[in-house]
Amino acid sequence: MKGRMMQVPLLTSDILKSALSRYPRQEIVSRTNEGNIHRYQYADMYRRSCQLANVLERLGVQSGERVATLAWNNYRHLELYYAISGFGAVVHTLNARLFAEQLQYIINHAEDAYIFVDAPFVPLLEEVREQIPSVKGFIINCDQHNMPSTSLSPCYCYETLLAQETDEFAWPALEASTASGLCYTSGTTGNPKGVIYDHHSSVLHAMMSGSSQYLDFNEWSVVMPVVPMYHVCAWGVPFSAPLYGAKLVLPGPQMDGQSLQELIEQESVDKAYGVPTVWLGLHNYLEQSGKRIDSLKLVGVGGAASPRTLVKLYAELYDVYWMGIWGMTETSPLATAAIPSPQLERLDAEQRYDLQATAGRAMFGVEIEIFDADDKPVIHDGTSRGNLRVKGPWVLSSYFKGEGDDSFSDGWFDTGDVAVINAQGYLKIVDRSKDVIKSGGEWISSVDLENAALNYAPVNEACVIGVRHLKWDERPIMLVTLKPGKSYVEGELREVLADRVAKWWMPDAVIVVDDLPHTGTGKLRKVELRQDYADHLIEST
Ligand code: AMP
Repeated sequence: MKGRMMQVPLLTSDILKSALSRYPRQEIVSRTNEGNIHRYQYADMYRRSCQLANVLERLGVQSGERVATLAWNNYRHLELYYAISGFGAVVHTLNARLFAEQLQYIINHAEDAYIFVDAPFVPLLEEVREQIPSVKGFIINCDQHNMPSTSLSPCYCYETLLAQETDEFAWPALEASTASGLCYTSGTTGNPKGVIYDHHSSVLHAMMSGSSQYLDFNEWSVVMPVVPMYHVCAWGVPFSAPLYGAKLVLPGPQMDGQSLQELIEQESVDKAYGVPTVWLGLHNYLEQSGKRIDSLKLVGVGGAASPRTLVKLYAELYDVYWMGIWGMTETSPLATAAIPSPQLERLDAEQRYDLQATAGRAMFGVEIEIFDADDKPVIHDGTSRGNLRVKGPWVLSSYFKGEGDDSFSDGWFDTGDVAVINAQGYLKIVDRSKDVIKSGGEWISSVDLENAALNYAPVNEACVIGVRHLKWDERPIMLVTLKPGKSYVEGELREVLADRVAKWWMPDAVIVVDDLPHTGTGKLRKVELRQDYADHLIEST
């Protein structure tokens, strides 16, 4: 027998409408690209999102079309999240850390129709303009006064377009399964892959992740997502904060310790989110300046393993609760967290820090499990490791255009992470079976670096692995074997790499070796090499 309840779809435009009716006076504070502070309220965000949706209509955007953004965390980017998805198109967040060639690949793969771009990123698009034929126009996210001169064409000014439109828009009654967002990730192998969110998954994720079981947002909360809106949707905070009526503080391009401390103090931020490197930077600044962050009560930290030393420092120096988090672009992204609980409070401090430094427990709706090489579940004893799989209503069921099918089995998504789970369900990521490096929260493709190295004639084979780094969590090092009789100069190899990859991808060390270990099928044995060289950079500094 079926139930007899209404099948009412949950849409991102419902969050926008609810923010207008419930919390019209709640504030959104942004640091702009020009460096000043911009303030407005949810009622303003609603009005301007309507104007923006009218702009999309005037530009001829079709439902289901991809409209890209290349922008920092600021109020215009927030309006784009709501207007594009609410309109029925797909907001495709382009990662500002990408190198021109990757950007080109992703824009073409997504077949983006328009790109809304913050002025500092205009040169990046100018580099690829000739190679992205699907793009019908560029809108620069600024007012007329701050319009840069550019070769991008056709090119429009965001504020000029908005000013021509009314602030009323009839948000369409979309189906819940309508695509709302698109975000590319390195995936486990090969080219970046697209993850397509829908309205249902985005709203459910916002409801659960913003609830008291997870991020615990309400009208008293002042939340600052430092995690970028161009990567993993700023952990969904652009949807969950307005859903629960929290004040939003968006740090724009300035994510250094000093700028964050200023915003925390000025705006009384009590919860902030980002990768460990961000909190290391803030701690270093506080230590050297003697400045304070009294309002801050909690930092949510994911994207990389939590260093336990920082968990302890934040508790003992600043009285800030460090909440370890795990998630992926593929999981919308939030899935597990070490939330504060009576059980944790009862532990002695050192035991509590141990658990805070894990990625915590799965939130309602998300199932996690670890499997051995024979696909058998591994015991949850906190030390036995297995391949981490995940399922849930905001976990992807396939990648855009059906790529990467080998990541799915028996209803699970295979994460490429290697983990342990303890008897209480706390998850800790201990390794990665996928071949990518995560440095300061952003991906570096080992395969792209290896291919780039082969353009230097003396290199016979190149192998890039991620090894521990005190500031960036991981940095790439490159091991190379040489062709016999060829003379090799490291500086020449670096020049070849510099022409082909982003500056921040440059390996921290290049090591010439006699031989590289391979599996029976000829693949590099990277797990072994990662173990052998794990502390190479730490020992050499
Ligand atoms: P992304 O899709 O860019 O968010 O990256 C997701 C990946 O980041 C995961 O598959 C992990 O490899 C890594 N990651 C995320 N959170 C953690 C964590 N708490 N500990 C260790 N690695 C993490």
